[in-house]
Formats: sequence, C-alpha cells, structure tokens
Amino acid sequence: MLLEEAIRTLKEAADPVRDIEKVPLARASGRVLALDLKASYDQPPFPRSPLDGYAVRGEDTICASEENPVELRILGKIYAGQVFRGEVHKGECVRLMTGAPIPTGANAVIRQEDTDYEPGKAGDFTGPDSRVKIFRGAAPYQNYVYEGEDYRKGDILLRAGTVLNGMRLGIAAGAGLNELEVYREPAITVISTGDEVIAPGQDLKAGKIYDSNQYTVVGRLADLGFSRVESMHCPDDPAIMADRIRKAKETSDLIITTGGVSVGEKDIMHQVMADLKGKKLFWKVSLKPGAPTLAFVLEEKLPVICLTGNPYGVAVNFELLIRPVLEALSLNPGIRSKTCMGKLKNDSPKWGGVRRFMRGFYERESSEVTILAGSHASGTLSSMAACNCLVEIPEDSGGKAGEDVKIYLL
Ligand code: AMP
Ligand code: MG
Repeated sequence: MLLEEAIRTLKEAADPVRDIEKVPLARASGRVLALDLKASYDQPPFPRSPLDGYAVRGEDTICASEENPVELRILGKIYAGQVFRGEVHKGECVRLMTGAPIPTGANAVIRQEDTDYEPGKAGDFTGPDSRVKIFRGAAPYQNYVYEGEDYRKGDILLRAGTVLNGMRLGIAAGAGLNELEVYREPAITVISTGDEVIAPGQDLKAGKIYDSNQYTVVGRLADLGFSRVESMHCPDDPAIMADRIRKAKETSDLIITTGGVSVGEKDIMHQVMADLKGKKLFWKVSLKPGAPTLAFVLEEKLPVICLTGNPYGVAVNFELLIRPVLEALSLNPGIRSKTCMGKLKNDSPKWGGVRRFMRGFYERESSEVTILAGSHASGTLSSMAACNCLVEIPEDSGGKAGEDVKIYLL
C-alpha cells in the first residue's frame, strides 16, 4: 500500500478521544483545550495607571509647561493593589504607582518625570498640604488604561481545539482560571516482541539482544507529550501476545507492537490478528525501511499497529505512520511531523526502486542536509545518534548531492 493511503486508512480508523478532564494550569501546556474559554471579567477590571505619577483631571493640566507649571493639591498616595476612596476635583490629584486604579474624577496620569517630585519632599504625599508642580500636562484619557481595554466579560479568549502553550496559559491565568478543561490524553500500549529480546539492565546471554524498540517508541511518545503510556515485552507466542492485547484493549486508544510481522515462522502477529478477529487494514507499505507494517482494528475502534522489529524501521514508521494517528486521536495538530525541503550535501548511499527514508542531519541556517555516515542497515542503532531528521529519497530519484529533498524533522 502507498504510504499516503496507509496514513489515510489509519487516521480513519482512529477514534478521536473527546473525553474531557480538568488539569491544573501549570500542567496544561501541550494539552488541547476542549471548551471555549470565555472571560468572566473585564480585563483590566478597573481603569489603571500605566506609569508612576499623578492621577489628574486632564483639563486641569493641559496647558502646563516648564515656564508655567500647574500646581495641584495631592489628596493621597496609592500603590498597585490599593484603592483611593475619595474623588479628584478641579485642582487636585492623587499620587499613584503603575497598576494602581485611577481614582474617580481623574481621567489622565502625569508622569512623575514631568513634575517636581522628590522623595519625601515636593510632589510626595506627606500630609494634607502636599502639592506637586506639573511641567508637562496630559489631555483627558492620556496615560489612561481603560477598564476592559484588553477584553470584555463574555469575550472568547481561547477557542476549543487550541493547543495550549505558555502564552495561552498566561491568558487563562489572567482570566482567573487555575485549571482548564482539556481532552484526555490518548492511552497507548506499546508491546515489543522477540524471544531474543531482553530488557536493558539484565545480563546479556548468548543469542540475546537488548530491547531498544520499546524505548524508542516510549521515548518518542514522551517527546511528543504523551504520558499515558504502558509498555511491556512479550515472547514470540501468539497465544500470550493475543492475551496481552486483549487486556490492553480494555484501557487503550492505540496499541503499537514491534516485531513479528514478516514471513518467518516466528512472525506471530498475523496469527494474533486472526485469533483476535481483528479487521485487517493493510500489511506492507511501500517504503524502506520498515515495509512489513501490519495494521488492524479491534471492535471497529481500536487501531493496532504492528511495526517491524528492525530498530530503524521502527523509528521511521513512528514518524510516518504513528504520528498521524496520534494527531487524529489527540485532536492535536501540533503532533504532525514538521517537514521542509533541504538541499542534499552528499550522495545517498541507497536510492532507487522504492521510497526510502535515510538518517540525516539538517542545518537550518543553510537548509542543507547531510546523509549521515555509518551503516544504513535497518537494524543499525549507532548511526541514529546524530540524526535530527529523516530524508526522503523518492523511488525515481538518484539521491545525488544538490538535489532538493523532503525532510522530516525529529
Ligand atoms: P522481527 O521483525 O521480529 O523479525 O525482527 C527484525 C530484527 O529486529 C531482528 O534482528 C530482531 O532481533 C530485531 N529486533 C526485534 N525486536 C527488537 C527490539 N525490541 N529491540 C531491538 N531489536 C529488535
Ligand atoms: Mg521477531
């Protein structure tokens, strides 16, 4: 099956998670807002001063100058967070700091720098006789932040479906919310297979290798912000595997397995699919590495995506096939792979016949991409260390230096 068709098929099979849960603001970054966020208050909730100075009636000060200062009586002093209870009349003002509410009667603020202010002396509020000289006046509503200047009660601040980030959490916090209603994260089960595969940390025995796939997949899920993940290993026994999947089915929105999808005697996933009465979506996608991907659906709603056991095939399939499914399940467009075009710096050692995905290093400043040195076998792990992108070499391309190629950023 063509890659695009496989992606479309899988996205159609995914059942988006629309359950809603509340999360504290500090943990909401990366989550998808489930309901429109409406303002419950005007913002700011009161007219406020944008600077340190004096709340005045603009009309009293408008003709003030260095030569002809206007002198006003200071009724009092307020800091941000305080409220002046009185009213400002003709010839009066209130000393106030940035963020303080502009008192009733006043309609403009004079900058402290445009007065004769000295701490504890002229222009400070030291008692009922305190006065300030104003050298430069303000028109009414100059230096005046209106109540509701930012937004009004009832305005929609963030739409349902918005992916939350720091900026947007600031908006929510500013509107007084300490938790948000977001879509529940999809629950994902990852199962690696292979009788030869043992958990890292154990002693290496003859014929065995360590399980890297489980950690590639779980790690990549974590990179993308998915934390509701369970992972395990299973021997090459179709009955045990079917049992694991049957259990996982109860709690999962997606099951990802690795290994056992080729044509060997221990490629158990075909048998497992039959035992579980899964509806087959496809087996084999036209790409390299990781062609023998098998996908099926359980009970019309749970996709099971069975990847090759080859570590690089797993990595490539994750980016190309799993990410679109995660995007559909989580209703989060941020999960989509970021792609761009790059210019090949060197010849690809592999090309032709089939669409290939090579390990690459992309330099953003120059838009150049290097196919990494080292083994390009699908079972090789070490050459993935410097890899920051996949490079697509189309089947009809020679993968030569200078060609423009599509890049999938990791
Ligand atoms: P399979 O797709 O099961 O035939 O496995 C293909 C190759 O990948 C074999 O050489 C396996 O030993 C290797 N392999 C399978 N699963 C893993 C795993 N979890 N971690 C590392 N290598 C694996
Ligand atoms: Mg195997």
